[in-house]
Amino acid sequence: MNATQNHVGQSAEDMTRDVSAELRRRGIPHSPAQYDAGGNCLTCGEGGRCPGVHTFEEIQNAARAASRDHTTRLPAFRVTYGDGESYVTSMAAGVTLAEARAYFVGTRHTMSDEKTTKTVATVEEMTP
Ligand SMILES: [Zn+2]
Repeated sequence: MNATQNHVGQSAEDMTRDVSAELRRRGIPHSPAQYDAGGNCLTCGEGGRCPGVHTFEEIQNAARAASRDHTTRLPAFRVTYGDGESYVTSMAAGVTLAEARAYFVGTRHTMSDEKTTKTVATVEEMTP
């Protein structure tokens, strides 16, 4: 019988759950981290050391930093919850609407009141 490899995802998932629980406890809106093809987080740039979730503020700061670095226009998306409430966020350069939808739709966000969670229903690209 083959030795079962101790999958790194195990501890990373534990860490992600802890970080997510802590953010939720503090009422900080956050989202699961998104990774590029190389496995590096689009927000913090870390692969193995990424906590697996980032606050909306971190995600937006990273998007702004990327904007300064590349002087390219970042795609902006309107993320709408099931109840119709929405917000606009920018993503890393090159992110397509399909990718943004795959990333956001169906994810559950904790609102700042710490009690309400809302599930993302639709994502639309903001036209410049
Ligand atoms: Zn990260």
